[in-house]
Amino acid sequence: MKVTVKHWHAVATWRWDTGTDQQTIDEEGDVCGICRVPYEGCCPSCKMPGDDCPLIWGECSHVFHMHCLLKWIGTAASKQQCPMDRRTWVTAERKVAPTR
Ligand SMILES: [Zn+2]
Ligand SMILES: [Zn+2]
Ligand SMILES: [Zn+2]
Repeated sequence: MKVTVKHWHAVATWRWDTGTDQQTIDEEGDVCGICRVPYEGCCPSCKMPGDDCPLIWGECSHVFHMHCLLKWIGTAASKQQCPMDRRTWVTAERKVAPTR
C-alpha cells in the first residue's frame, strides 16, 4: 500500500521545530503540552529561556509557554480552548514561573 501525502493542512503558521532531537519526552510531565519542550526551556520561537518566554497557567491547571498558548489560541482550530482538555481557556490568576 502506498501512502502519499496529498495535502498538508496547515492549521497554523508555525511548526513544531523539534529538529532531529529525540522525542522521548512524551509524558504529561514538565513539558509544554504544545511544543513538548520542558518548561525550563523556551518555546520554539525563542532562543533563550527566561523572562522573555514566560509560562502561562490556565484555570484547568495546564501550563504552557505563553507564546505557545497564544499562538494556539490565535488559530481558528483552537476555538479558544485548552489544547490538552478542550476546555475554554481561562488564564489563571497566577504570576510568572516559580523561581527554582
Ligand atoms: Zn511550548
Ligand atoms: Zn517563547
Ligand atoms: Zn487544560
